[in-house]
Amino acid sequence: MSKNVYDKISIKGLEIFANHGVFPEENKLGQKFVINVALYVDTRSAGLTDDLEQSVNYGTVCHQINDFLTANTYKLIERCAEELATHLLVSNPLVQEIDVEIEKPGAPIGLPLETVSVKIHRAWHDVALALGSNMGDTKKYLDDAVQKIDKLKNTKVIKVADYITTKPYGGVEQDDFLNSAMLIRTLFTPNELLNELHKIENEAGRVRTIHWGPRTLDLDILLYDDLVMETNDLTIPHVELHLRDFVLKPLAQIAPWLRHPVYGETMAQMLAKLEL
Ligand code: ADP
Ligand code: MG
Repeated sequence: MSKNVYDKISIKGLEIFANHGVFPEENKLGQKFVINVALYVDTRSAGLTDDLEQSVNYGTVCHQINDFLTANTYKLIERCAEELATHLLVSNPLVQEIDVEIEKPGAPIGLPLETVSVKIHRAWHDVALALGSNMGDTKKYLDDAVQKIDKLKNTKVIKVADYITTKPYGGVEQDDFLNSAMLIRTLFTPNELLNELHKIENEAGRVRTIHWGPRTLDLDILLYDDLVMETNDLTIPHVELHLRDFVLKPLAQIAPWLRHPVYGETMAQMLAKLEL
């Protein structure tokens, strides 16, 4: 899921009087904050057409920043930056990535300093998920999962593959599966997303007994941008992605061009190999 290289619109030194701080006096009296923001956007079509609609209105964004930081009161500038980044990414759909820096030049620390700041980078992530069920009303389990994923905070379903019936895998005697795959956009980190998926599995009454055994709902993360990671409880890309036709078939239907960041092959190529 390789990312485009985006253009950058910068807002520097936007001064805002607001009430963030750990000390109650700060919340009462307020002080100056200085905001620097970089919006990563594709400006090519605005550049060719001279049409503001094709880009992000930086004036509007400045007012969004001012309104947001004066309407809320946080203790930490870390939290200010986090919430502001989310707010701006959600309010401006053309913005793919953002840098948010919040400076607090009047920070009450009892020593002279020029400024203190927190700077963060946040982005929309493109993720492919696998869905599977082989107990009870399998279609309803998948339908409900798609709905719940679409309702997750700062997450949007982009495409869902047709549901396919497949034979069980892994040598355990059990009913056929209904499988699918979907593409989503999210602000969740991989571990946060896994956590949310586990909650949805649990709500579907998923009981983890036999490995590869029957389940009401299985939700796996297949790809997360171009990320390659391996920890105790999360491997991305999914370790068996390239071996499972019940995963590759639906994913290749909706995104045949997606490339595996380790094996370097597209979903369509990996599926064709399995079908040989
Ligand atoms: P499986 O999906 O292989 O049939 P489970 O759904 O029971 O098995 O998952 C077992 C564990 O696998 C999860 O609790 C999770 O921590 C871990 N895991 C590792 N990588 C992933 C991934 N990419 N997506 C989902 N779970 C993963
Ligand atoms: Mg799983």
